[in-house]
Amino acid sequence: MPFKDLPDVAALRLTNLTVPGYLVGQSASLVAHSLTIVDGVISDAPAEAEVDMQGALALPCFVDMHTHLDKGHIWARQPNPDGTFDGAINAVGVDARANWNADDLRARMDFSLRCAYAHGTRAIRTHLDSHTPQDAITWPVFAEMRDTWAGRIALQAASLSSCDYIEEKDAFSATADLVAGTGGVLGTVTYPNPNIVAQISGFLAAATVRGLEADFHVDETLDPSVNTLRLIAAEVLASHFDAKVVVGHLCSLSTMDETEALHTLDLVAKAGLHVVSLPMCNLYLQDRHTGRTPRNRGITLVHEMKARGINVSFASDNTRDPFYAYGDMDMIEVLREATRIGHLDHADPDWCRTVLTNPAAACGFDAPSLAVGTPVDLVICNARSWNELFARPQSDRIVLRAGRAIDTTLPAYAELDHLMRTH
Ligand SMILES: [Zn+2]
Repeated sequence: MPFKDLPDVAALRLTNLTVPGYLVGQSASLVAHSLTIVDGVISDAPAEAEVDMQGALALPCFVDMHTHLDKGHIWARQPNPDGTFDGAINAVGVDARANWNADDLRARMDFSLRCAYAHGTRAIRTHLDSHTPQDAITWPVFAEMRDTWAGRIALQAASLSSCDYIEEKDAFSATADLVAGTGGVLGTVTYPNPNIVAQISGFLAAATVRGLEADFHVDETLDPSVNTLRLIAAEVLASHFDAKVVVGHLCSLSTMDETEALHTLDLVAKAGLHVVSLPMCNLYLQDRHTGRTPRNRGITLVHEMKARGINVSFASDNTRDPFYAYGDMDMIEVLREATRIGHLDHADPDWCRTVLTNPAAACGFDAPSLAVGTPVDLVICNARSWNELFARPQSDRIVLRAGRAIDTTLPAYAELDHLMRTH
């Protein structure tokens, strides 16, 4: 790009950028915009130098609100044997029991964070597998990572354990205390079982007494009879749970009876749940059967949610682990794939909110802004339109953090080779 090397002056004006209209109070999807950088923040002071950015599309740095940093990059030593959801659960369990010590977790988390940072992400929520005794190993490593990365990537963690674990009262309480003590979010995975309503109720009560927000993995299946989402929304309403609630996946909404799906979404809207869709991971795991071409995409009903005013986001989910073999913590890839999988391209003009403002609101991260006084944390691409943006991987993007271009070189996979030996 002709503007790859920006001049090093105290007050630099970037003219002729292209930015999402909603960020500057305009209804058009993309609009021309200029801004001046002084001391790393957007300023209205006079500029010393000016660069014509030739229409380059600039997005605020991304928020990735659903990841699994503790699982990331184990593929080389623990692949998914058949690419299915059950295959993933079993493979991760085997790997966690054998390998997830502090050194292993630290190295893989740091690798993922360096990828995310280089791609232009500034805030991440990760789920952490949190059964005892793994939680006592993983959470202190997370807290260390949060400190190490402060100022570059704001980190949050949510616990992850099955809804059955809620019934193991002492163990679940200990995990919830650990989450509260580390400033985390209480999480669980719901699936149909005879005690599910009591489990959700107990879970919300455990969050309430500790002042915790909630984050659910929900209905990650195409079985049309599965709808624990409706139960979660009903329990949130019945218990007057007033902290933020995130629900992720919701794949079975795409296969269940449409009337039931839409009625459920009405309830989700009423309960104020925040939705996160993980389209790449869903496309990988859902509707996979040996020797049979997949028919369904697995993505949840994002258009119908948006129409109801539900706060919808997209996120990475898993990265090079048995739940998703690929991925690189790149939110441009996530938005590009969500656009293709979910047909966002002939819909509303502001779907980019789903990796910017919406996840920030769902998690309580700083809202992205182009207002004076805001840090200049921008991803600038060699593209002037959504079509040009999504047509290429944008590997030559510029990432500005506090107004300065960072090194966007990605870490080499070889760095993890010493952890991938299986004997
Ligand atoms: Zn997940």
